[in-house]
Amino acid sequence: MQLKDPTLFRQAALVGGDWIEADPANSIAVDNPATGEIIGRVPNLGAEETRSAIEAARTAQVEWACRTAKERSVILRRWYELVMASQDDLGRILTLEQGKPLAEAKGEIAYGASFIEWFAEEARRLYGDIVPGHQKDKRILIMKQPIGVVAAITPWNFPNAMITRKAGPAFAAGCAMVLKPASQTPFSAIALAILAERAGLPKGLFSVLTGSARVIGAELTSSPVVRKLTFTGSTEVGAELYRQSAPTIKKLGLELGGNAPFIVFDDADLDAAVEGALIAKFRNNGQTCVCANRIYVQDRVYNTFAEKLASAVDRLKTGNGFDEGVTLGPLIDGNALAKLEEHVADACGQGGRLLAGGRRHQLGGHFYEATVIADVTPMMMVAREETFGPLAPLFRFKDEADVIAQANDTEFGLASYFYAKDLARVFRVAEALEYGMVGVNTGLISTAEAPFGGVKLSGLGREGSRYGIEEFTEIKYVCLGGV
Ligand code: ADP
Repeated sequence: MQLKDPTLFRQAALVGGDWIEADPANSIAVDNPATGEIIGRVPNLGAEETRSAIEAARTAQVEWACRTAKERSVILRRWYELVMASQDDLGRILTLEQGKPLAEAKGEIAYGASFIEWFAEEARRLYGDIVPGHQKDKRILIMKQPIGVVAAITPWNFPNAMITRKAGPAFAAGCAMVLKPASQTPFSAIALAILAERAGLPKGLFSVLTGSARVIGAELTSSPVVRKLTFTGSTEVGAELYRQSAPTIKKLGLELGGNAPFIVFDDADLDAAVEGALIAKFRNNGQTCVCANRIYVQDRVYNTFAEKLASAVDRLKTGNGFDEGVTLGPLIDGNALAKLEEHVADACGQGGRLLAGGRRHQLGGHFYEATVIADVTPMMMVAREETFGPLAPLFRFKDEADVIAQANDTEFGLASYFYAKDLARVFRVAEALEYGMVGVNTGLISTAEAPFGGVKLSGLGREGSRYGIEEFTEIKYVCLGGV
């Protein structure tokens, strides 16, 4: 791989300010999901290194919290600038280990960096309150203080942005972070740590541990020093981490699975809805927790929308993310491929009608054709489970009440989308959807300025926006008497 700055690709982990190089005898191999080739190795660290990282974080955090907000902001701003200056290299590392098309990977680097930039700004606006006192000689002061040492566990689908969305606000608020990135995509995390070090983040404040998720996770969750756990991943693992965090009563930020409905009403601009569906469904090859999982189309426009979507999907190009013009990369691994195949077979076996794709791609490996299935019903697996792949299932609905009931009939509640023009309907539907996020006439909602998060089994807390930094603080009430 050609990098302008080859030092950004490092086969090492950062523990308490010290780099530990991968030892061939005890390391984890990382592969390129497009080719299956091993691209490098990272250390297989365990409980002992996790404890050292937590201890170093504890010490570093005390000093970091004493700095002025502006001092923290300046370092974060520098980190943001270094990330943007290395956007091409970081994008290449990301495509190599994750598979998404290079343009999309570079887009993720800019998106990820925007959280560092935003929280560098928010660092200086973490205001408290002075509340009118309840007695003449008393004053009520409310201050927001850093929660302390934070543990973060992140997934492979956004190897850069899922880290910056957590690390940005944590450092801005005055916290330290011990991060365990996904074992499929550690190199993007390591590159971020290299740049954080260059930006002047103090030694020990940020550790990146590679190794067994189970072992490192158990140590992070059981530590009384770690006051907050922030996790993005599956609901199953999120619930396990919730359980493990109970004895030490940690604050939790959980960004878990989704089962997003995407609703097309008959007054919608159909071309815009097709455009939105392509983004909401096929971005990252369908492997995002806000991907449209169930597409509901109203009777009157069903066939037209289905035809338009199928022909738009035919124009997508699947391939190696480094190849020119590719819009869809491989799936991350064999399990992802098997789940997708199961969903397609289940839907087709119960009367689903294939309008596009429906098979493994001729490229082999983990490649699968972009797929559209019509006549999908609530009995099929795709209605209940997150597919996490390039499959657009089309459900039919009669009226507003019917589709709201179907859309809300899930244990998840992360993102939802709908296309409509009638203003009263827009408000009614936006209010009725039981989701943390609603995209109206758009398929792309994530941004540093807005609160990202879900309800029900989709999680706890919000990332991004001014609310995102509050998650890394504790409120302290000071009652000032005798004044
Ligand atoms: P995904 O389906 O996106 O891979 P997972 O929830 O399996 O979602 O993984 C998300 C992150 O959680 C990854 O970094 C993974 O290594 C980590 N993880 C998986 N199992 C555990 C566990 N038992 N304890 C701690 N972390 C875990």
